[in-house]
Amino acid sequence: MSAMSDLDLPVPFANKSPEMRKFIENVTGYIPGHCATCKALINNEDFHDDLSRREYGISGMCQKCQDIVFNASEDDEESYEQDE
Ligand SMILES: [Zn+2]
Repeated sequence: MSAMSDLDLPVPFANKSPEMRKFIENVTGYIPGHCATCKALINNEDFHDDLSRREYGISGMCQKCQDIVFNASEDDEESYEQDE
């Protein structure tokens, strides 16, 4: 499936099993293609750089939410649950 070849974004939680992703979607309300935090529609152009895109692939957060999170807690390391 490569229907969205114009979007060069990583898929958040792609390294998780389908069951794990279902779990994440149930718990966080995460909708594929939308921000995991504010539920805004994700656009490739929204991200400042590849680092932000990579972060989106990890946390599923849009640029705005990344700005808020990383500005608010610079010395507070991320606290996402890593399974493994
Ligand atoms: Zn957001």
